[in-house]
Amino acid sequence: MLIARSVEECREARAQLVGTVGLVPTMGALHEGHRSLMRRALAECDHVLATIFVNPTQFAPGEDFAAYPRSEEADLAACEDEGVSLVFIPPVEEMYPEGASTTVSVGELSTILEGASRPGHFDGVATIVTKLFAVTTPTRGYFGQKDAQQLLVIRRLARDLLLGVEVVGCPIIREESGLAMSSRNAYLTDEERAQAAALSRGLRTAETGWLGGLRDAATLRQMVHDEIAAQPLARIDYVSLADEETLAECDGRVTRDALLSVAVRFGKARLIDNAVLRVPPTSR
Ligand code: AMP
Repeated sequence: MLIARSVEECREARAQLVGTVGLVPTMGALHEGHRSLMRRALAECDHVLATIFVNPTQFAPGEDFAAYPRSEEADLAACEDEGVSLVFIPPVEEMYPEGASTTVSVGELSTILEGASRPGHFDGVATIVTKLFAVTTPTRGYFGQKDAQQLLVIRRLARDLLLGVEVVGCPIIREESGLAMSSRNAYLTDEERAQAAALSRGLRTAETGWLGGLRDAATLRQMVHDEIAAQPLARIDYVSLADEETLAECDGRVTRDALLSVAVRFGKARLIDNAVLRVPPTSR
């Protein structure tokens, strides 16, 4: 496994990779969710190129950039274990050269939900992913459905900017309790962690209702809300049921595929999770 720390080293090492390349961008503190992306990439591509970079521009002032968990040694071992060919792990100055002033912004999609709660977040994401695509020129990029809105933003930017990278979305990996795996779960106390299982439980409850024919948007949102609000340590940021493609909030009877998503604070951690509610082909 090769390790590149500068853009130049990465371009040189990338040029040596023969065949298709699957890119897995991460911020490190790798867990099974990240590893599942690497496995999928390895199954579908000749080489996996992983990046580890805690991107400062996607953190708003006052967020956890400085405190974000960093574990380089264990992360490199995990990459090696998953058969990664090349890891790009640059310092901030490599990705943001002195005086860099260009930003990628996908517009409307990045101003709602996560974008409303975290101003500037998706511009930071879109900018860094564009740079990573430019440096690594992958065949495909692998991203988790865990960050559903981020996946939409990246699909949009790859399409709009004609980047020629196929964006692949991968399923959410969960702990046994249902809690979606996240590097930020490390911030949770035992008590918070136990209560945080309510996010996935709420989503499952609504999903069960949906599968049983429940279609009223407000009722579906309420089911998720009630399950989470019953946890004393939970502070709900939002519960959303929105069009799966545009993220326009659903109203009344839901007739198209929809994204049910939540953001909830538990102490120092801000957790997100989601479920896609699909309209069965027979009832379209
Ligand atoms: P991060 O390191 O949090 O920026 O995540 C890097 C990539 O891993 C993103 O595409 C995430 O959506 C994905 N990811 C994070 N957690 C999970 C999970 N529990 N299941 C699947 N993918 C995940």
